Amino acid sequence: MAKKQFKAESKRLLEMMINSIYTNKEIFLRELISNASDALDKRHYLSLTDSSQKISRKDLTITIEADKANRTLVIEDTGIGMTEEELEKNLGTIAKSGSAEFRAQLEKAEKNIDIIGQFGVGFYSAFMVSKRILVETLSAKEEQAYSWSSSGEDGYIISPITKETVGTRITLSLKEDTEDENYSEYLEEYKLRELVKKYSDYVRYPIRMEVTKSIPDPTDDKKTIDTKEMETLNSMVPLWKKQKSKIKEEEYNEFYKSKFNDWENPQKVIHYNVEGTLSYTALLFIPSRTPYNFYYQDFEPGLQLYSKGVFILDKAKDLLPDHFRFVTGLVDSDDLNLNISREILQQDRQVRSLAKSIEKKIQSALEDMLKNDRENYEKFFENFGLNLKYGIYKDYGVNKDKLQDLILFRSSAEKKYVTLKEYTERMKEGQDKIYYACGSSIDEIEKLPVMGKIHEKGYEVLYFLDERDEFVSGIMRDYDGKQFMSVSSSGLDLDTEEEKKEKEEKAAESKGLLEAMKDALGERVKEVRISSRLKDDPVCVVADEGISLEMEKYMANDPMNKGGVKAVKILEVNPDHPIFAKLQKIQNEQPEKLADYADVLYTQALLIQGLPIDDPAEYARKITDLMIQA
Ligand code: ADP
Ligand code: MG
Repeated sequence: MAKKQFKAESKRLLEMMINSIYTNKEIFLRELISNASDALDKRHYLSLTDSSQKISRKDLTITIEADKANRTLVIEDTGIGMTEEELEKNLGTIAKSGSAEFRAQLEKAEKNIDIIGQFGVGFYSAFMVSKRILVETLSAKEEQAYSWSSSGEDGYIISPITKETVGTRITLSLKEDTEDENYSEYLEEYKLRELVKKYSDYVRYPIRMEVTKSIPDPTDDKKTIDTKEMETLNSMVPLWKKQKSKIKEEEYNEFYKSKFNDWENPQKVIHYNVEGTLSYTALLFIPSRTPYNFYYQDFEPGLQLYSKGVFILDKAKDLLPDHFRFVTGLVDSDDLNLNISREILQQDRQVRSLAKSIEKKIQSALEDMLKNDRENYEKFFENFGLNLKYGIYKDYGVNKDKLQDLILFRSSAEKKYVTLKEYTERMKEGQDKIYYACGSSIDEIEKLPVMGKIHEKGYEVLYFLDERDEFVSGIMRDYDGKQFMSVSSSGLDLDTEEEKKEKEEKAAESKGLLEAMKDALGERVKEVRISSRLKDDPVCVVADEGISLEMEKYMANDPMNKGGVKAVKILEVNPDHPIFAKLQKIQNEQPEKLADYADVLYTQALLIQGLPIDDPAEYARKITDLMIQA
């Protein structure tokens, strides 16, 4: 048999494993047992759905054998096994789960070896403790058995073998002990027992090992003799079936980490039991960080589905609404049909009512966290708030009422997060709008010309720091009857009646000037008018009804939309700014120059808003000319 080479990425990972000085090498056992358990799940499921594949539950086992003389450790299962093709695909290439991120981290990892333990790196982790690995396997779907063997970097060999029973037997030839590493420990009964308890106690199949027991010597009761007997090392009770009050936080954490491939404790555990027409238990988790691929196509949301403790499906996405897709975990129901498949999941009436019930529970858990554990909620929101916002505007806002009280915005009041409820409850007397300002940072927003006036008037402003925030307010239109209003929209009205009158007089006085400026700017603006939102700045540009300035910016960055939709703009001039008097003077004395002034001021206003300008060179030239004249 020809030796085959590992794929490049796998090779890198493998090298790391082989040369690892990571101290927590023991996790290899957890990884192999978890693979065995997955394989047993698959076999069990097959036996329930295909009558030619019957196997008794009690024959689904994992066995550990330690051989001190040969320095080998065997992990054997009676699971689904692997075909030749599967061997090639699964063990010749880096495993799927978590590995893309692992690869990314690998780049920075040369020194930080800690990351090994942080990922479910799977099968290859066995190379941390082994100099050679032999996999012998017979698939339930094929007649011929195969072996896969490798001593690491220089490749692997796959050969046909004889193996009578379906399942997989993995033999690790342990490395020699060194000054720092005692690999022999992994052949000790106490150590193996400890590791199984620590990492794999809830595996729902017996993990068996032959252990030595001392029993009284029947011929001499002062003596004992050693006998060998098979013992099941794990308790096998699924964690979610245990009483909530009897479960320690630590147990939830370990369970989550080992089962759902995370290295951090979950941020929130939601464990509950429902009895009724549809009875089920759910053990759900909210991760404490955003999965690296959460917003990408390859992120697979969903819950594991069990029926009476039998695993049915992984990543059943129909159990979760899109807006809660950050939740992971499992659901175990007594009332579901075992033959349920991914395809019929969506149509199944029971599954639909199950999903509805799960959604409600998650919703109330989040509401509860927001109310009683604000700090944690804010952390959660930083991780997944975007997804909730997305949930609000998705599908034309069908879910907005459910989600609107779960979203947070930073606000000018204390630069802290506020809910819409908090905002509206403390609105100033006479304020009937929810004010917001868009920008990529608080600093940027605070520099917007309009902010001076807003602060002077004492209004609280929501900072829309995310491009999508305006989609949210756009879909919602209002909260509790109060409309959203951008501080950069033409409709903003901050003036008292008295101030308004004053402005109107000014506008009437300078009608000629404003019109001349509008003429100079042509189609670029709809109107040039006196501003009531400016305090210290000379000009600003605002958007008329419809497309907002932020939308325009967003669209400009969208490659699908080059030069596309634009906001209808209005240029506003501050009548109290010295530039205003200057403009009046120019109009009276050198009207031919007014066009350049209007142009420069308009371009400035665009720049301040972070909007693209048409002709930077022309702008620079005009500024220089003005400087020379000054
Ligand atoms: P992961 O378990 O995250 O997919 P692993 O590296 O642990 O990644 O395993 C790679 C793949 O090899 C598994 O997905 C599975 O298909 C296969 N595999 C590993 N161990 C076994 C086993 N004992 N029985 C059957 N298939 C296995
Ligand atoms: Mg695995």
